[in-house]
Amino acid sequence: AIRLSDVCKSYGDYPVLRNINAEVGRGEVVVICGPSGSGKSTLIRTVNRLEEINSGSINFEGQNIHAPMRGRELNRLRSRIGFVFQSFNLFPHLSAVENVSMSPIRVKGVSADVARDKAIKLLDRVGLADKANSYPGQLSGGQQQRVAIARALAMEPPVMLFDEPTSALDPEMVGEVLSVMKSLAAEGMTMLCVTHEMGFARDVADRIWFIDAGEILEMAPPKDFFQNPRHPRAQRFLSDLR
Ligand code: ATP
Ligand code: MG
Repeated sequence: AIRLSDVCKSYGDYPVLRNINAEVGRGEVVVICGPSGSGKSTLIRTVNRLEEINSGSINFEGQNIHAPMRGRELNRLRSRIGFVFQSFNLFPHLSAVENVSMSPIRVKGVSADVARDKAIKLLDRVGLADKANSYPGQLSGGQQQRVAIARALAMEPPVMLFDEPTSALDPEMVGEVLSVMKSLAAEGMTMLCVTHEMGFARDVADRIWFIDAGEILEMAPPKDFFQNPRHPRAQRFLSDLR
């Protein structure tokens, strides 16, 4: 579904991504892990072009995401790639159901009634049917993050990106968000996730990408990565976690 070829990015003289070559297959769940500052967020943000790259290409369903394009074309492309951040970024003055139905109405021209019905179904799917009319300020962090996931799903993206979706949450709310992600994975969603939740990585990921200093040093199924990491830096990363 997504192919990164020779992707390089620097901030000034400082290389943040070095020659990334990687692929996420359709229906595949990839977890990116690595130390703080290794380039995980930068990498995932290049995939929907929240960050520009200096060289290389990123292919999504036959289209180079980093080819020159107009704003409208970029927006259309972005609407096909769901993105969930650490901070939920809901619109505070809109209810849960309004947050979820807004993009389909504005970007896709779906009628308000249809979008609302669909939003309610999505909220039900993330366990929030009873919170449809609540405002973000009335919801817990875990609930807000589940609304954010429903909002991304409302555009029916074939791919979902997650950048540490649980790291701003109180510990007791982490599980409810991970379980939504887990069910998405089980339904065959293509997912690229940055997370420190190694239990999730172990149970749900098809592959782990280990990144350090802007380089992917290891790509392996979780079983191999956790039991038998090959790269010394991956070994050190894992032993520091324990
Ligand atoms: P964390 O686990 O802490 O979220 P990360 O792996 O997501 O870290 P990135 O946020 O991708 O790391 O940052 C990679 C490197 O790029 C870091 O050294 C960071 O300081 C640097 N960096 C990120 N954004 C910028 C920027 N806008 N300008 C300059 N340097 C930046
Ligand atoms: Mg980050």
